[in-house]
Amino acid sequence: MKTIDKILRNNAGHWVGDGFPVRSLFSYNGDTRAISPFLLFDYAGPWTFEPNAANPRGVGQHPHRGFETVTIVYDGEVSHRDNSGGGGTIGNGEVQWMTAGSGIIHEEYHSAGYSKTGGPFRMVQLWVNLPAKDKMTPPGYQAITRDSIPEIALDGGRARIIAGDFSGTSGPARTFSPVNLWDVRLDADAQVTLPLPDGHTTMVAVLSGHVTIDGQGLGEAEIAQLSLAAEGVEIKADGQTMLLVMTGEPIDEPVVGHGPFVMNTEAEIRQAFADFNSGRFGAMAPA
Ligand code: MN
Repeated sequence: MKTIDKILRNNAGHWVGDGFPVRSLFSYNGDTRAISPFLLFDYAGPWTFEPNAANPRGVGQHPHRGFETVTIVYDGEVSHRDNSGGGGTIGNGEVQWMTAGSGIIHEEYHSAGYSKTGGPFRMVQLWVNLPAKDKMTPPGYQAITRDSIPEIALDGGRARIIAGDFSGTSGPARTFSPVNLWDVRLDADAQVTLPLPDGHTTMVAVLSGHVTIDGQGLGEAEIAQLSLAAEGVEIKADGQTMLLVMTGEPIDEPVVGHGPFVMNTEAEIRQAFADFNSGRFGAMAPA
């Protein structure tokens, strides 16, 4: 069984725009080797927003290059729009898997409907690196709806398979390198063994509730970073628990990141800024 290498937490939150109160539980500013192929994990919420129909909250136009952003909405709704003409609304239980690749400009706001009603908000945005050979792939996104995500029963809970494979059940997301992403819910006192691959970077994020792994307790907004070696992990739920389980084959390449760009070299970062500043990412259509 895998054991805990480290517990990641961050009690200092910050706002992304005026719509996303996040805690960054890991980022590429730390040890990029230990988190590879992942780059960043922002846990937004839980938060309660008042209605604000006249002026939806969020973050305006900004670029990305060199990786993928995976947005998982648990409560509330997020609408996005990008310069390739893409757009849509990510609802409760849905996932947007966006490939920034060679470059995208987009905006992310609370949906019009959710801005009218307000209420609970909870979301995760995970950044997944692209192998060097795919960093300049054309941008695009996968809108992963609730119905397309298979759910499997666990002894004392359930798991929704967003990406990868759980004992023969495959998730719908297409990925550039081997990644598992599972939305796991456990009932109080459940004890489960999850089939995690040997050799993958493995993170178990507690979004709500409390669990015991490898003899250590974890609560809300804490991530157990598990050992690369060994298969599987035993998890005991100390109450009703919501987890996001992430594993990925490490990408053994240098990571150089600056803000919304994550490449392999400083020169590529300078090129990204030059390309963006000279309009080579294109432009968004007026709202
Ligand atoms: Mn973005």
